[in-house]
Amino acid sequence: MTLRATIVGAGGLGGPIALSLGGAGIELTIVDPDIVDETNLHRQIQFTPADLGKPKAALLAGAVVARGGRARGYPMHWRADDADDLGGDAAIIVDGSDDPETKFAVADWAVATGRPYVIAAALRFGGNVMAGAPGAACYRCLFEEPVAAATCAAAGVLGPVVGAIGGVAAALALGLARGDRTHAGSLFVFDDLRASAEPRIVQFAPRPGCSSCARAANPPILIAKKETA
Ligand SMILES: [Zn+2]
Repeated sequence: MTLRATIVGAGGLGGPIALSLGGAGIELTIVDPDIVDETNLHRQIQFTPADLGKPKAALLAGAVVARGGRARGYPMHWRADDADDLGGDAAIIVDGSDDPETKFAVADWAVATGRPYVIAAALRFGGNVMAGAPGAACYRCLFEEPVAAATCAAAGVLGPVVGAIGGVAAALALGLARGDRTHAGSLFVFDDLRASAEPRIVQFAPRPGCSSCARAANPPILIAKKETA
């Protein structure tokens, strides 16, 4: 059976994620509205100067195909309304976008449709990767609401950081896609990859009444607080 995955974002994180999962034989749907800019090239090493001005999603899909994989690129913002058409049969969805709203939308859609997901973020010298699956605490249990965050375009990111964070995201995605729930409901935190590549792995508890997972078909089981007499 062919496993399928949706990759949201074809930049610094999406590049290593897509090439890794594509190389593992997973059929990819890659969604990204951007075109390649000169300022991307130091960290988005799937692209070359010949790609400037061209759509990232199609180029990255082409790179996967050139290596023997299967992928299609869509030059658009990922939105839950289109998600079923673009990748409704995906075994997993992986976000490597640079947009907090998109990350929450991806996580909420994955929770609502009962599939595993990975949300990756990188900035400056570090980043974090969340692994989610039905029945585990979700992205919104942890972060609750999108907040205005600095972007790589504005605040910068060290080139190798996206390779490292993207690699971790791909490894977690491969595990989850094959049913490994070891890290479901966990956040891998890399504070500063120049100092340490050892993540803090934080397994967090479901939030009671979470607006995303508490309504899911397979909500997390809340551990009841002990009653005190
Ligand atoms: Zn939740």
